[in-house]
Amino acid sequence: MASPLMTFRMRLTLAVGGLSLALGAAIVFFLSQVASSRITQDQRESLQNRVRAISYALAENLRERDREIALLSKTALLTQGDLRGSLLRERLALTKNSYRYYDWLGVAGPDGTVLSAVNGLLEGENVGNRLWFTAGKQGSYIGDVHEAVLLAKKLNNPNPREPLRFVDFSSPILGVDGKLRGVLGSHANWSWVGDVIAGAIGEDGMANGVEIFLIGNNKQILYPFTAIGQISVPANLPANHEEGEISWGKEGRFLTAQSTVNPLTATNPAWHVLARQPMSQALATVHAMHVTLLVAGLIATILFMTLVYRLVSNFCRPLEQLADSAQRVSSGDEHADFHTSSNTREINNLAQALQRMSVTLQARRHALEESYRSLEQKVTERTQELADLYNQAPVGYHAIDRDGVIVQMNDRELHWLGYTRDEVIGKMSIRQLLPADCDAIFLERQQRMLTGEQLPPLNIQLIGKNGRQIPVRTSSSAVLDAAGHFVMSRTAVMDVTEQRELEVALHKQEALSQAIIHATANGLLLYRDDGQCILANKAAAEIIGTSVENLLQQNFHHIDSWKVSGCHAAALQALTGEEVHLLLSTTSSFGKAVDSIVTLIPLQHDGEKLLLVVVKDVSELITANRELEKLARRDALTGLHNRLALNERLREEFLRMKRSGHAYTILMADVDHFKKINDNYGHETGDAVLRRLGQLLLHTVRATDFVARYGGEEFLLLLPDTLAENAIRVAEKLRQTIEAESMPGVGKITLSIGLATARLEDIAEGLALKLADNALYTAKHSGRNCVRSADRPNPATTAGEHMTPNQPPHGA
Ligand code: GH3
Ligand code: MG
Ligand code: MG
Repeated sequence: MASPLMTFRMRLTLAVGGLSLALGAAIVFFLSQVASSRITQDQRESLQNRVRAISYALAENLRERDREIALLSKTALLTQGDLRGSLLRERLALTKNSYRYYDWLGVAGPDGTVLSAVNGLLEGENVGNRLWFTAGKQGSYIGDVHEAVLLAKKLNNPNPREPLRFVDFSSPILGVDGKLRGVLGSHANWSWVGDVIAGAIGEDGMANGVEIFLIGNNKQILYPFTAIGQISVPANLPANHEEGEISWGKEGRFLTAQSTVNPLTATNPAWHVLARQPMSQALATVHAMHVTLLVAGLIATILFMTLVYRLVSNFCRPLEQLADSAQRVSSGDEHADFHTSSNTREINNLAQALQRMSVTLQARRHALEESYRSLEQKVTERTQELADLYNQAPVGYHAIDRDGVIVQMNDRELHWLGYTRDEVIGKMSIRQLLPADCDAIFLERQQRMLTGEQLPPLNIQLIGKNGRQIPVRTSSSAVLDAAGHFVMSRTAVMDVTEQRELEVALHKQEALSQAIIHATANGLLLYRDDGQCILANKAAAEIIGTSVENLLQQNFHHIDSWKVSGCHAAALQALTGEEVHLLLSTTSSFGKAVDSIVTLIPLQHDGEKLLLVVVKDVSELITANRELEKLARRDALTGLHNRLALNERLREEFLRMKRSGHAYTILMADVDHFKKINDNYGHETGDAVLRRLGQLLLHTVRATDFVARYGGEEFLLLLPDTLAENAIRVAEKLRQTIEAESMPGVGKITLSIGLATARLEDIAEGLALKLADNALYTAKHSGRNCVRSADRPNPATTAGEHMTPNQPPHGA
């Protein structure tokens, strides 16, 4: 529950009220300071006025007495009359009666003897040593206060608590001749000072604690009598007509004002009027004002705060209504209304916004509730599905407690075993479902399970109600509570009957595969992609010339013959996924020469790359092919090279010349008038002549020379590394050899021979052949049985075709 101070209303009240009060307090403080200063000033001025009034009154009084005595002394009665006469006495009595403070009035003669006095007091006595007399002879005199000496016993003291004190006034009496006749003197009772002061300060002055003192020049107190010897006047008094706050010793501090009574004559000593007022009383008005302000301030504060509170309450009410409505909405009241009594625009806007928000929130809450309902529905359905899945899954599930008692089993497993749920749950131990010889295994696994160990799957047999043994694979895990203690173990059971059957079938299949692998005539080798051989059949061992065991130890990355033959590169290529075929004629690493067709086939097995190498021994086939190739390049009739072999050799020789710069010469030989032989002796004789001719040509030239039947009865001889000059000799030797020979059944035959030497600068390889053919043509036209060389400029021999019947034979 929030503190009442935490309400918006309270905080606003405190904030507004507090701020206003702080401002008000500051203003009041300022005004009170001003007023205090003003009041204090007034107080000082009032005190100053008092002392001035008193000093003025005293001075006036003294001046009046002085004048009165001076005037009297100048009257004719005194200047000319009898100073002991009754007229004078009357006149003195009148004067004394006119001023009630005159205690004594009289005239003394020049020697100081009192001549006349009111009521005859002191008459005849000598006052010649008295100050009023001695000073009064010189002029008007006003004396200081002093105690009565001669008159003390003769006069009645109206105030017995104080001694009789006088202030003396005197004035010389001069005759018309200007000579001193005497001195008129008077003693005024000091009590007039008290009366003057009392009249000046009035009643209220005393009430405010104001005290008046009259002091002499030496700061001795003259008035009031009670203060003499009791109060010591401070040394640091304010100057004339000034006032100040002065310490009066132990009595404390007083507002003190001073005014000097101006002396009228030289003899008249200065008096000082002092007024003092205790500071507490001087400032009483200020204090009273402060108290008043405080009380008024408190009342104003209470009234103001009440007012503020009411205003704030009015202001906050709509907000509180809104908050109340929002509270109701939050506690589920769908009918809460955000209507307010406020006419403030922002609050009305807020109310409308809250109303809309409330509607939106309610709509969302309904939607949410709807979605919760549908979620619950789904959860129920899913739970049902899970239960179905649990019971109908193709896998059995059961759970056992720490003693092996079955606490859960799904429908599937119950069905396999042929038990009902009631027969099993809580009643049977799992050991009753296991073969007797598996008891030890179960106990050992259960022990490990209790310690929380993860167990590997187990293949075992479960025994059904009818005794049927079901091969299963089980996978168990422990269920632990929050503290990690064993609660039960849960086991998934898979019926592996089919799997067992499949395994048997697979074994059969494998045996068959092995038989096929080893029975095939082709070599089969299987390598991992790291090069290790993992399978080799007998045929492979035979073709390669070693044992299966040796092959299984091989890694193709390390077989030198694979690298030499290009088989290693092909293997790497095949491992990228491309099937590669090779025809290899090589010697295996075990020393056996073999011709083989090797097929490298990339395989994938369980994500592993494998390389299958199939080796087919084609040594015999290759030998046969080579024979065929040879035959294809032989002329069937003469056994010499045929046109195919000739073309190949011509190309080879041309290229060799281009590389080495060694020229070669082509001889083209044609039997003269061979047609006639055929015609005369028959075709077979003709053939026999051609065979014999071939042998003769072959045996006449060097073994390195190339002899081919060019076609019909034309023969071509290629003499490597032979220039025209020597070639002509060879041709001539041939011509002569044939000419000298007698052909069986035919006799003599002759040859015409054309020859041409190939040159380094030749562009076409057929040029020399063409030139030789041309030269043969020339030989035929030159009468046959002769040799003609092609007419081409020769750096060595620049002559044209040579007639060479008598030249020595080539190579002789
Ligand atoms: P010459 O060359 O001197 O001008 O006269 P020739 O009679 O030899 O003329 P030609 O070269 O035109 O005739 C060649 C004959 O050779 C024609 C053909 O009957 C014969 N002949 C070609 N090939 C064979 C063959 O293989 N066996 C036999 N018996 N005769 C062949
Ligand atoms: Mg011919
Ligand atoms: Mg011919």
